[in-house]
Amino acid sequence: MTLTMYACANCGHWQKWFAVPPACPVCCDVRNALPEEGWSFPDEKTVGSLLVADWHQPVPGVTGFRTLPSFGLGSTGWLIEADGGNVAWECAPYYPPEALAEIERLGGITRLGASHVHGYGALWQLQERFAPPVVAVGVQDLPWTKAFQVTWPVDERFELAPGLTVHRTGGHFPGHCVLHDEHRKILFCGDTLKVDLEGTVPRALSCHKAYHARIPLSHDEVRRYQAVIGALDFEAVATPFEFAAPVTTADVMRLFDHQLSGRPDTAALPLGVAQ
Ligand SMILES: [Zn+2]
Ligand SMILES: [Zn+2]
Repeated sequence: MTLTMYACANCGHWQKWFAVPPACPVCCDVRNALPEEGWSFPDEKTVGSLLVADWHQPVPGVTGFRTLPSFGLGSTGWLIEADGGNVAWECAPYYPPEALAEIERLGGITRLGASHVHGYGALWQLQERFAPPVVAVGVQDLPWTKAFQVTWPVDERFELAPGLTVHRTGGHFPGHCVLHDEHRKILFCGDTLKVDLEGTVPRALSCHKAYHARIPLSHDEVRRYQAVIGALDFEAVATPFEFAAPVTTADVMRLFDHQLSGRPDTAALPLGVAQ
């Protein structure tokens, strides 16, 4: 019997299975919504026939890959140029041949990682194609990584490349990590933050344990975000879905202070007020 890759049409999560999978663990989790029409698990060939690649460069040295149309959660995979070789952080839902060719042209991938399961996308494809020696994910999130092989489980802090450091935040998921680019002053923040954009202008910030179900983080989880993220100097954030600038450390600390001032909530806090 051979194992086949299947994607969940609802959230995009990939599973390697001996038949059509019985369910999607990500959709069954409290942080995601169930598909109201039931399960649909297209195989790789079917997914490949539906999607084309799209990429853009929000700042020099950082390229975001996604698919058109959007698939699953519609994640963006970031390719970050770094000393010693490119870093891929988070992944697109799928990499059609033209996306893989563009990554090849940019120099391939030597280190690969993701914040948490909602950013994994087709990480397995990049591992298969580029075989980076380092595939880094928070050790507490290993149960979600069965579609690929983690080669470097991350504890609290890990220097993925010079000037690019992974920090575990926990919170949204126990092993959730952010990646700080200290030279470009970008926080690849995973799902620690959701940014409301008006066009390309950041307007408001929120944070969640569960975005769809609108469950807030606990106060201790916010305090941990505050301690970890407050120590990082950044002027832009890149979630698995969007690039947003300017969003600064001070902006994010204001959101966390607000969360700790009373009942935590998932409402978006406008940027640029209550200085
Ligand atoms: Zn799913
Ligand atoms: Zn998430």
